[in-house]
Amino acid sequence: MDNKLKILIAAAEVTPIAKVGGLGDVIGALPKALAKLNLDARVIIPFYGAIDRSKYKIKLIKPNIKIGEASINPRPAGSHPRHSSVGVNLWQTNLPNSAVPVYLIEHNFFDGQEIYSTALADDPADIKKYLFFSRAILASLKVLDFKPDLIHLNDWHTAAVAEMLKTDYQNDEFFKQTKTLYTIHNLANQGPAGSKNYMAEGILNSDIISTVSPTYSREILTKEYGAGLENILLKRKKRLYGILNGIDTDFFNPQTDKLIELNYSADTLKKKTVNKTALQGQLGLPQDKNIALVGLVTRFVWQKGVELITEEFSKLSCQFVFLGAGEKRYEDGLLNLAKKYPDKFKIIIKFDEKLAHEIYAGSDIFLVPSRFEPCGLTQMIAMRYGGAPVARATGGLKDTVNSKVGFTFKKFDSTEFYKTLKRALAIYYHQPKIWRQLLINGMKQDFSWTKSAKEYLKLYKKLLK
Ligand code: ADP
Repeated sequence: MDNKLKILIAAAEVTPIAKVGGLGDVIGALPKALAKLNLDARVIIPFYGAIDRSKYKIKLIKPNIKIGEASINPRPAGSHPRHSSVGVNLWQTNLPNSAVPVYLIEHNFFDGQEIYSTALADDPADIKKYLFFSRAILASLKVLDFKPDLIHLNDWHTAAVAEMLKTDYQNDEFFKQTKTLYTIHNLANQGPAGSKNYMAEGILNSDIISTVSPTYSREILTKEYGAGLENILLKRKKRLYGILNGIDTDFFNPQTDKLIELNYSADTLKKKTVNKTALQGQLGLPQDKNIALVGLVTRFVWQKGVELITEEFSKLSCQFVFLGAGEKRYEDGLLNLAKKYPDKFKIIIKFDEKLAHEIYAGSDIFLVPSRFEPCGLTQMIAMRYGGAPVARATGGLKDTVNSKVGFTFKKFDSTEFYKTLKRALAIYYHQPKIWRQLLINGMKQDFSWTKSAKEYLKLYKKLLK
């Protein structure tokens, strides 16, 4: 008998098959790391119209699974020829370079080219769509005869599964032993539908809840960070855990990264300056290997706190390179600085993977002034590339940045941020040995998904014992 733990991970995204953001990255990486720990981890997502079925060699395995739910109204039958509107087709592929099965539920709810219908968190079309997906997950498991020990639900899209197990499936032998873990990746998107709030439902109905860093798991119990759900979270406090995300340590590896000018490691840190001067040259900044280069890569949105970078910062002896895109008010604020101080500030407004890697490789210091940050990846990537983060001590930033690897400030305040960056620059210019050790400490940290997966495994076992 195969006695591996059986885990079904249900989510709206999985990288690289269907990615919008960080949620997809977690779902793409965690099951592979769990498989290496000898778990039978599988993923289930909707079969979106945008998914490339030939690239991922997606095969039909179970046609026409009946969902049989009158309250769910799909688009009129006949709007798409591939399937009937009363059933779903179940397809399968693997996560690339792995044996992790990915199941895809096909139905005309998911045929559109966009993963989410709109940028709105509470678009009614999406609520119906993911409620249907949640129902289809449980029906598919029975047809597959895959009886998971645990269903790992992620964000509001799949939260309804926990409630369905307690109601519709309450007396179903098949799911008798099945437990649920609900992971909150983004508390801001709650899927509210009239009187129902799916994020809240997931928190209340799951056996155990987690979020993506220990500090954030405590912060969300407060009014400041709880997004209106702090009282509901407080009710489940004993069952709420925080596990840090990992980063893709193969993709973000200064020793092998093909997107950067020159590869290097902790032992050949001097070569990092070649990346710095190349970046300066490419962006038209004065080329000087001695001047501190301060980087930032982020979405320019309220959460990320970039407005703390004010004109005052032009007084500091360093160069700033910022890459990001988002809201115009933040973009314009930064672009004004670049206009006024062209030799100090370079602002690049776009999404650019290669330039992001070049900034990680070329920066001495990396800024992360977030208002709140469930986990945050850029500080970890920066450290892996031998940069020292200057970060606000909040959420996952607090858990990953300490005085051995970087600098933090507490209050969300421009002056505190400024002073902290100034302190970092003083060490950079005047205490090179201490500076070097700081960078090496950061580079030697373990940011791998294996580490995170071990934490998840501990949590699964706690639930199943
Ligand atoms: P969030 O998920 O809130 O956007 P994270 O720090 O968790 O923030 O993850 C951000 C990821 O997106 C990082 O890998 C970062 O390098 C990448 N990223 C953000 N903005 C850009 C951009 N403009 N160009 C390239 N990569 C970006």
